[in-house]
Amino acid sequence: MYRKNEGADSEHRMKTGKLFVLSGPSGVGKGTLREHALNNAPNLKYSISCTTRKPREGETDGVEYRFISHTKFQEYISQGLFLEYAHVHEDYYGTLKSDVMSELEAGHDVLLEIDVQGALKVKEIMPEAVLIFVAPPSVEVLTQRLTGRGTESSSSLEVRLSNALKEIALKDKYDYVIVNDDLDSACEELKKIIL
Ligand code: ADP
Ligand code: 5GP
Repeated sequence: MYRKNEGADSEHRMKTGKLFVLSGPSGVGKGTLREHALNNAPNLKYSISCTTRKPREGETDGVEYRFISHTKFQEYISQGLFLEYAHVHEDYYGTLKSDVMSELEAGHDVLLEIDVQGALKVKEIMPEAVLIFVAPPSVEVLTQRLTGRGTESSSSLEVRLSNALKEIALKDKYDYVIVNDDLDSACEELKKIIL
């Protein structure tokens, strides 16, 4: 027995995209690598997270993040809108289910740039997701990069650097680890994984 029009159906069935999850300590270069990947993988879409963090100078609502209030974030949690969310450093961050699913169903690959707690939750829900950890060549270099970026207050720097060690300790749970020492090599490695 066969289903009527089975051939035509499968011919027109859309291939769903792949989900890639990028994590790593603050200042390691995730944002830099992400930009490169998005410019070099035409089928790759970035999922813009929601956060309760205040925008940094130069950040725009709806571009880097959807900057929302704590009240709104709680509403989204109650409504079950998040694929995952977590308290990271000093704020809440979350990925909207609808954003990710609609892009995957449209056949696009999707990139999430989220913390380790979020990445492991995604892997539980969607085991086919590819987890990529970006590690620094050393803690000293990480400190220089994060300080050099000049975006964090001294208390925020302290929290981010102390969390870095906890995040690095979980890197073996990832499918791939990229050491971001030479930027061009790290970009190439990420591109290879995605393509
Ligand atoms: P993250 O998104 O992980 O917090 P960023 O992408 O903002 O990190 O990078 C932090 C800083 O380090 C930025 O100033 C960026 O230009 C710089 N950076 C990123 N990768 C490298 C690298 N391989 N070598 C030197 N500097 C880098
Ligand atoms: P930043 O404040 O530097 O932009 O991001 C801080 C941390 O939050 C980074 O580790 C980043 O990957 C993580 N993050 C950003 N968006 C999300 C998200 O939607 N979910 C989770 N769990 N973490 C996120």
